[in-house]
Amino acid sequence: MEILRTVAELREWSRQKRKASGGAVGPVVGLVPTMGALHGGHVSLVRASRASCGFTALSLFVNPTQFGPKEDFARYPRAFAADCALAESEGVSVLFAPSVEEMYPAGAATFVDAGDLGSRLDGQSRPGHFRGVATVVAKLLIAAEPDRAFFGQKDAAQVAVVRRMARDLRLATEIVVCPIVRDADGLALSSRNAYLSSEERAQALTLSRSIRRVEELAAEGERRASVLIAAAREVLSSAPAVRVDYIAVVDWATLEPVEVAAPETLFAVAAWVGATRLIDNAVLQ
Ligand code: AMP
Repeated sequence: MEILRTVAELREWSRQKRKASGGAVGPVVGLVPTMGALHGGHVSLVRASRASCGFTALSLFVNPTQFGPKEDFARYPRAFAADCALAESEGVSVLFAPSVEEMYPAGAATFVDAGDLGSRLDGQSRPGHFRGVATVVAKLLIAAEPDRAFFGQKDAAQVAVVRRMARDLRLATEIVVCPIVRDADGLALSSRNAYLSSEERAQALTLSRSIRRVEELAAEGERRASVLIAAAREVLSSAPAVRVDYIAVVDWATLEPVEVAAPETLFAVAAWVGATRLIDNAVLQ
């Protein structure tokens, strides 16, 4: 596995692979963008990429512009050596680990604005977050020129922002979305789970329980957003350390609230568990 530090190297690698493939049918380069501290959720994206693309690049970059001034950028978990070992064992061809200066050259003033999507769901409580996400993902897609880029449904609002950005900028990359990977007890895997004490972790299970409850109700035919939200709120309120940020029933493409769930309706929750903000969701069928 090669470790690349500059955009020029990544672009060159991708172009070489494409050239060497001699116009092979099917995707040549897959990209998995991450902030590192890799876990089973990231691994699932790598496996999905490897299953359909000849070569997989994994980017590892804690992107400062998607963190608010009072957020956890400085203490976000960083585990470079372990990430390299895991990426290598999963057959990643290239690990792209740029510096902040490489991604944001001195004086960088150009950003990708996510429009209305940027202020919905997580964007409402994290102003500027999706502007940072749209910007860094656009930079990565322009740098790596992948045929496919792989994202987790875990960050469902991010998926909406990235899909829209790729469409609006007419990027050539196909955006592929992979299912949420959970621990055996249901908790969605997240690098931020490392912040939780054992007591907080137990209470954090109310997030996945609230999602399961809503999925049960939806399977029984309940479609009213107000009823689904109330059911989730009841589950979440059983945990004293859990403070709800949002419980939302929205159209997955626009992130606008809907009153009656339909196919591709997103049910999403965000909550603080102690000092840690966690998210979870389900796409209602
Ligand atoms: P992050 O490193 O948290 O920015 O996540 C990098 C990618 O991994 C994003 O596309 C996430 O949606 C995805 N991801 C994170 N957690 C999970 C999970 N539990 N299941 C599936 N994908 C995930």
